[in-house]
Amino acid sequence: MSRAKLQQLGIELPLFPITSVGSFPKPDFLLKARADFANQKIRRGALEKAERQATLFWIRKQEELGADVLVDGEMYRGDMVAYFAENLEGFEEGGLVRSYGNRYYHKPIITGEVRWDEPITVEWWKYARGLTSKPVKGMLTGPYTVMDWSFIEYYPDRRSACLALAKEIRKEVKALIEEGARIIQIDEPAASVRPEELPLAIEAMHIVTDGLPAYFITHICYGAFENIYPGMLELPVDNFDLEMSNSGLGMLELFTQYPYTKDISLGVVDVHSHLVEEEPVVEQRLRQALQILPKEAIWVDPDCGLKTRTVEEAIAKMQSVATAAKALRENSKK
Ligand SMILES: [Zn+2]
Repeated sequence: MSRAKLQQLGIELPLFPITSVGSFPKPDFLLKARADFANQKIRRGALEKAERQATLFWIRKQEELGADVLVDGEMYRGDMVAYFAENLEGFEEGGLVRSYGNRYYHKPIITGEVRWDEPITVEWWKYARGLTSKPVKGMLTGPYTVMDWSFIEYYPDRRSACLALAKEIRKEVKALIEEGARIIQIDEPAASVRPEELPLAIEAMHIVTDGLPAYFITHICYGAFENIYPGMLELPVDNFDLEMSNSGLGMLELFTQYPYTKDISLGVVDVHSHLVEEEPVVEQRLRQALQILPKEAIWVDPDCGLKTRTVEEAIAKMQSVATAAKALRENSKK
């Protein structure tokens, strides 16, 4: 259990902390600003103003919904890998490729030594943190996923590229911690895709997190957890943020076979569906998890980032998450 670690870091959270994976949909005014910027109709400053306005919008929404650990919503990002590739040295933008599901992105090319020269997300974290009294998660894409979703030209193999990235991403983690971030999420959605490379993802995560004073979360999605469980428990993080509802909570069955040992951010609404789950459905998912996992270990959130939903759908899904978590919280006091 990592409640003690959170307390050491000065963070008190209620039972079933309500959070979200990271991304929220961009409001219409920001979509327009991004298009105008791409067409050179507005300057970068005007785009950033719209990004800040959208960040404020989502911070307020999360507060209204009763979220306990907030995110900045990633209003300034296009793609989660391309964003870091654009902001680290050693990358060039590649052509548009199709990845998992219906995700299209410019697959970056590693053409030189990867290098972190200055903070990437820190200003956004500080801005979001200044808007609320609640903790705000620092949000980074992990080295394994950045490597896996890039073409590698400069390094001789995947391992050396991944470990080089890990050393640089650690610098961003340290920069966040220096500014006061105490909960940091290192997204590794690609970690479940090639089970034979799980040891590499683990080695890289050690480089990123070892010895640093923060509560670390990693988000893994795209299903196939059965391929990497229980080995994935070796990842040096405190909390796994897992897509659970999309797989009909099949992961819980694995936990009965081999005990789960960390905190979990339990994905309880499907982000791929327009359908907004009724609160009793979400509550039932939580109750199922509670039969297997201790209540102190469970955080509650959607399966994945909500950026592909509409603003209204994202709010409605967060509402279902929050209502169910609060109901269970009340219930557990009785
Ligand atoms: Zn995800």
